[in-house]
Amino acid sequence: MSEHDGIDDKDDSAETLFERIIAREVPADIVYETDTTIAFRDISPQAATHVLVVPKTRYRDVAELAAADPRLLADVVTTAARVAELEGLGGGYRVVFNTGADAGQTVFHVHVHLLGGEQLGSFGR
Ligand code: AMP
Repeated sequence: MSEHDGIDDKDDSAETLFERIIAREVPADIVYETDTTIAFRDISPQAATHVLVVPKTRYRDVAELAAADPRLLADVVTTAARVAELEGLGGGYRVVFNTGADAGQTVFHVHVHLLGGEQLGSFGR
């Protein structure tokens, strides 16, 4: 495994669900795609609009992504903004990177949750 794979030796290297969605091995409701990112609807939406934006190269979380490939992080955010536009979220939206188990991260392939389409509540506990 090369250092460019985004996963180092101490991380579990088992394929994640999101890699299977990127490879079209698992179906998903894909709303937008670029060379470096993919966006699909969350299977358990927490807002009227809830889309996940995932870089096609796997990093564990947003901090690892930012350190390794800031351009790719910018691609993820730019894709989220583009999807917000396509979904008509002109009134505002929220982007959330759950990072680590205490934040509720369950898929350890970095992704941003794009939430909107209604007045959102407060967040945190
Ligand atoms: P996180 O908890 O931040 O790691 O986010 C993982 C997200 O993936 C959750 O919001 C899940 O609802 C979502 N999810 C799990 N399985 C699927 C799937 N097959 N297709 C789309 N979203 C999924």
